[in-house]
Amino acid sequence: MRQKILVTGGAGYIGSHTCVELLAADYDVVVVDNFSNSKPAALDRIAQISGRSVLWHEGDLRDRALLQRVFSQYAFAGVLHCAGLKAIAEAQREPLRYYQHNLEASLTLLDAMAAHDVRRMVFSSSATVYGEGARVPYREEAPLAPNTVYGRSKMMVEDVLHDLVQSDPSWHIGILRYFNPVGAHPSGLIGEDARGSVNNLMPHLCQVAIGKRAELPIFGHDYPTPDGTGVRDYLHVMDVAEGHVKTLQYLATESGLLTLNLGTGRGYSVLEVVRAFERASGKRVPSRYVPRRQGDLASYYADATRASSVLGWHAKRDLSEMCADAWRWQSNNPDGYI
Ligand code: NAD
Ligand code: UDP
Repeated sequence: MRQKILVTGGAGYIGSHTCVELLAADYDVVVVDNFSNSKPAALDRIAQISGRSVLWHEGDLRDRALLQRVFSQYAFAGVLHCAGLKAIAEAQREPLRYYQHNLEASLTLLDAMAAHDVRRMVFSSSATVYGEGARVPYREEAPLAPNTVYGRSKMMVEDVLHDLVQSDPSWHIGILRYFNPVGAHPSGLIGEDARGSVNNLMPHLCQVAIGKRAELPIFGHDYPTPDGTGVRDYLHVMDVAEGHVKTLQYLATESGLLTLNLGTGRGYSVLEVVRAFERASGKRVPSRYVPRRQGDLASYYADATRASSVLGWHAKRDLSEMCADAWRWQSNNPDGYI
């Protein structure tokens, strides 16, 4: 009998790649997703890659009756909680919606887990919880001071999880703070289906290369970094997916709270990413310097040693592989999942 894992937001970017890794590690997977930022087609592609299907339920995590039905139907061994909203600028404009989908949804999910005695969870957090004050490279024990609504919504869930474990040490909770996940499954069948206004660097690069946008705006070239452009810790989404499976396996026996950075431990500037992408895609990407984006930090990357020492996890794929896989996905699926 395979263990069953619930993946919330399993049709999304991180969730879909994680489902593939879970199936490869011989788990059964059940997805709950409201498809607010994804399509069921992603779940068909997962089956195409894996030769095995995921079961899925369409609905919102804040819907208690839905969760009651799903948790009654399956005996879950654990939950990977990837569902959430993630657009930083949108969160500033719509804080209530972000707190509802990120915080309230997490509380409802935790209630359902407690009611059905499912106490193993891996939560998708973000490096944005660190904020301006922390020393680079960020270590997990650095004080948290997020400077955005989005970052605060993640920190609030982290606080809830911390309090939960304090009150009842029988919970097994993993908090994964991703740095900048990019790339796609090497098959080119699943990837980041960026919809609406694209904000992040890699999807923007892909859209310029495919001809959907004329040029890449480079937000600031006067930062105190080697070439003046912002520096981030990009990591391959398949490494992120593997990190989830390792964390889940670790939590099978270890209780309490484990907080880990998922990053490579090194930063790349915007210009370095543009050059790597041009090499990987064979496309020239016109770009133009524009003023800094509000709220952006100059440079940060992970101290990734804890994930390595606790889980034996480290990011294996380099920047050229991230770019090549992102480009394969984009060029095979110019309009995303249709
Ligand atoms: P995504 O938007 O591709 O996936 C999120 C999924 O959750 C989508 O399929 C969406 O439809 C679903 N969803 C949203 N709210 C829901 C709700 N209330 N009920 C049910 N389903 C809901 O985003 P992603 O990039 O896969 O991110 C996954 C998680 O990782 C998010 O929590 C995000 O905040 C976090 N994260 C992402 C990044 C990144 O760069 N992609 C970095 C750090 C953290
Ligand atoms: N960036 C850019 N042009 C874009 C999108 C992003 O120059 O169109 C820069 C951004 O200023 C930052 C880096 O690329 O220095 C990564 O940005 P992204 O939004 O992908 O991640 P985040 O800033 O949230 O870490």
